[in-house]
Amino acid sequence: MQITHIEHIGIAVKNLDEAIKFYENVLGLKCYAIEEVEDQKVKTAFFLAGQTKIELLESTEPDGPITKFIKKKGEGIHHIAFAVKDGLQKALNQTEEKGIQLIDNQPRQGAEKMNIAFLHPKSTNGVLIELCEKEE
Ligand code: ZN
Repeated sequence: MQITHIEHIGIAVKNLDEAIKFYENVLGLKCYAIEEVEDQKVKTAFFLAGQTKIELLESTEPDGPITKFIKKKGEGIHHIAFAVKDGLQKALNQTEEKGIQLIDNQPRQGAEKMNIAFLHPKSTNGVLIELCEKEE
């Protein structure tokens, strides 16, 4: 696979509005988009720090993955997303062939018109890795 850059860093928060205040009032960043992703049961808020994007994630459901994550580990860094450029499905196939456990065998719809897929942290030294690619 060919990774071009870190697309964003995903951070799990309990309360999106409160977290946005910190990023805006303390760090001086500007929230440029808020988007709900039903498929993942999250509401997301996006910031740009230079060229690097920060994605805050708040759960919209009591059984959502972010609720579970916070219960287990508390608020904090949830995932790192790498942008791939030569086809996300191909990258997933290659990753699986190398014995890496996938969470998503096929790309699904993420925020900001991205196709996304997660690799299982059991196979990646404990980091939840998201691979993503802009929709065609
Ligand atoms: Zn993400």
